[in-house]
Amino acid sequence: MTDNQEVRVRFAPSPTGPLHIGGVRTALYNYLFARQHNGKFLLRIEDTDQTRFVPGAQDYIIESLRWCSILPDEGVSVGGDYGPYVQSERKEIYVQYAQQLLDNDRAYYAFDTAEELEAERERLHTEKGETFQYDAAHRNGMKNSLSMSPKEVTEWLGSGRPYVIRFKMPENVELTIFDMIRGEVKVNTSTLDDKVLFKSDGMPTYHLANIVDDHLMKITHVIRGEEWLPSMPLHVMLYKAFGWEDTMPQFAHLPLLLKPDGNGKLSKRDGDRLGFPVFPLRWPMDLTKEEIASGYRENGYYPEAFINMLALLGWNSGTEKEIFSMDELVEAFSMERVSKSGAKFNPEKAQWFNHEYLIARSDEQIAKESVPFLHGKENLYEPAILVKICGLVKDRLHFVKDIWEQVNFFFEAPVDYEEKAVKKRWKEETPSQMAELCAVLEKLEDFSTEMCEATVKEWVTVKEYNPGNIFNVIRLCLVGASKGPGVFDIMSILGKGEVLSRITAATGKISIVA
Ligand code: GLU
Repeated sequence: MTDNQEVRVRFAPSPTGPLHIGGVRTALYNYLFARQHNGKFLLRIEDTDQTRFVPGAQDYIIESLRWCSILPDEGVSVGGDYGPYVQSERKEIYVQYAQQLLDNDRAYYAFDTAEELEAERERLHTEKGETFQYDAAHRNGMKNSLSMSPKEVTEWLGSGRPYVIRFKMPENVELTIFDMIRGEVKVNTSTLDDKVLFKSDGMPTYHLANIVDDHLMKITHVIRGEEWLPSMPLHVMLYKAFGWEDTMPQFAHLPLLLKPDGNGKLSKRDGDRLGFPVFPLRWPMDLTKEEIASGYRENGYYPEAFINMLALLGWNSGTEKEIFSMDELVEAFSMERVSKSGAKFNPEKAQWFNHEYLIARSDEQIAKESVPFLHGKENLYEPAILVKICGLVKDRLHFVKDIWEQVNFFFEAPVDYEEKAVKKRWKEETPSQMAELCAVLEKLEDFSTEMCEATVKEWVTVKEYNPGNIFNVIRLCLVGASKGPGVFDIMSILGKGEVLSRITAATGKISIVA
């Protein structure tokens, strides 16, 4: 590409099901790269393989990118000058380019049936112990327009027999190709086969459609998953065959996302096994259908945290910094710092990212987000107190949706008491101590955190009680367990009446149990 050429990159998923988080990361890196270079980020849907088409998948992809704020400048659902951006709507274009290759002797018709291909594979294997590959060494022994007479070919084409169009891979060319992440890759074309470019169903294959579209859409950089690295030599050869070498995009193949444990690609099975989603949104999105796979969005992740976590799977800034906003990522991202080796997915780290984004939010924000999870009890407190409650517990949360577990005792008196804590803390003298405490608290007019603390501490000191034990007993009475924020904060929020009633209730119940 020339210096003043506009950077144009694309995310080109196939609508074969929900978008894996590896796909979201590919989209993200494309987006970051485009924004960093003031370029354009395109969304193209590659749906030429009709056998793998899944209804709803395209909407899922669009909605996932929207949720992540990875917004295309051009493409499906946005429009642009190079559309249509759905490959099934571009069939005529591909026919024309397949014809160009046929005319220039860079492609040929092949009539071999699936059975004939299988028989040849079998024969080669048993007779010579070789693996069959449709290539320069074998194509003459097969049924195609190179091995058959022109007359026969015309007849067969006219008879409506199914055929495919194959690329005529040149023999023995030493190819040196360049990947932005991996550097130089060398291949000899004799190791490559004559890939099908056009199928008998009248659709192009991925390879042809992808090259034609990248060319026509003026793509300057192809940034995609490592699984496409083996296709790169074919793609380069296709650019050459079309005479498009001068405008050939640069390639960058991103490392795989790996399982948290062991090796291998991160799969839905790993997520199910270890309890985390591998998709951005639940699948299917249609709420009337049963959920097949959970999503980060529905699991309570903030999109900013999700994106931040994904950005660092395979790329690092070279500094200790881990929290990046989208703008900071745009600034810091560089292809040179994308690693060659796979990135291990870490579910705990994903939660950590969400926690970091959660604690960075204001208490007011958390209070607002908590409402759906407070079981309709949010009005038990004035808004300002609810904000305070959220502020007190947010440090303990990975997700707002889990807040009830941390705050339930503010809204409901305990019905039972943690056995371990009772055993450890509840002494013979506890009931009488609690009765004394109630008398002390009864007189307290200002029930603020500070006054509660000063009063209780003074009483404990004067009586020479064990402060640790007393505080824990109070907590047990108020919370029913040994969890929660500072006990004096809890007292102040519950208020005098509730505190006295809970201590009294606990004394009655626990003494019966004990
Ligand atoms: N349609 C391909 C996919 O589903 C795109 C590969 C590419 O970006 O060239 O991953």
